[in-house]
Amino acid sequence: MTNENKDQQTTDPLPQPKVGRRGGQIFGAHNPEVERQNPDMLTPPDTDYGTMPSLKWPYALSHTRVEDGGWSREVTIRELPESTTLAGVNMHLEPGGVRELHWHKEAEWAFMIKGSARITGFDENGHMFIDDVEEGGVWNFPSGIPHSLKGLENGAEFILVFDDGAFSENSTFSITDWFAHTPNDVLAKNFSVPEDTFTTFANGEKYIYQGKVPGPINQDLPKHQNNTVKPSFSSRFDYGKKVNMKGGTARILDSHNFEQSTTIAAALVEVEPGGIRELHWHPNEAEWQYYLEGQGRMSVFASSGKARTYNYQAGDVGYVPFAMGHYIENTGDTTLRFLEIFRSERFAEISLSQWMSQTPPALLKEHLPIDNDFINHHLHADNRPVLNWNKNNM
Ligand code: MN
Ligand code: MN
Repeated sequence: MTNENKDQQTTDPLPQPKVGRRGGQIFGAHNPEVERQNPDMLTPPDTDYGTMPSLKWPYALSHTRVEDGGWSREVTIRELPESTTLAGVNMHLEPGGVRELHWHKEAEWAFMIKGSARITGFDENGHMFIDDVEEGGVWNFPSGIPHSLKGLENGAEFILVFDDGAFSENSTFSITDWFAHTPNDVLAKNFSVPEDTFTTFANGEKYIYQGKVPGPINQDLPKHQNNTVKPSFSSRFDYGKKVNMKGGTARILDSHNFEQSTTIAAALVEVEPGGIRELHWHPNEAEWQYYLEGQGRMSVFASSGKARTYNYQAGDVGYVPFAMGHYIENTGDTTLRFLEIFRSERFAEISLSQWMSQTPPALLKEHLPIDNDFINHHLHADNRPVLNWNKNNM
């Protein structure tokens, strides 16, 4: 053992798979940094049992596409095989950096993490949409709708979510790519211009490129603008109802309050230190998560005695397969902030506590050895610590 390792052991012992008298030291290869980030993998709670899929993928393990003007990295079924319903892309645009004009088969939902971007979208009615999306802003382009993104003065960083886990950011329909793969004589015919107009065009897609920071939005409009798109392609979590809970807050955006978002429902959840996102499941869809700040722990109950606990920190993607029970604890000393995304037109969940509160007490007592105090004072009926969607709350 080197002196360096000895020092580390006395001040900050290496994590070991030891629980009381069980387990033992690792003699062979160690990756203490990863092990410290995932303590419940090395020393799981006694309640964890059975074979479970991986439900975590850190963006830090994703290949990053580094371009002039920005970068992107993705989490799809290739990285996280369980995530069949949704895929995510983490993207950064420098000031003036552009994600070029393009479209794709999947709907694109997005959340602005930092900075701001000017977005454009064009619909089947011939209407153009242009908006500056700031931090906390959201957009949704339904499948097939062409769009673009451009970083403003301070650049932009955001998370994109697509309603198919097999999506790849590397196979979208780009305007430059189509020009490059259409014969010049056909382009000449289509636009009624001479063929040599196209000799200087690039021969592949730009994808992300460095452009200029645009001026004010009212000086950056099309020459002949038809009507603008309605309902809007953008929104903000602030527009949704904020649900205050004992341990945190939640805001929901789905097709009830963000009409364009017909295939993706989302919640922005904050859990305070010591707080818990209570035991629940979703009756409509699997849950895709993106951790924005803080650190947390989620246990997933998969029926048949199977359960596993996963650790998350800012920059990680989490996933809960359809209908599996789960909870999320804040294990840090700062606010845990994350997105819950569903491939659905609506947000829906079943709370264990609320379900029990609405069940005949005698029936409940036959299942679980609980008393009247538990039933009368510790189950919540409508003092909602959860996020049950209620249209009348809006
Ligand atoms: Mn796109
Ligand atoms: Mn959930």
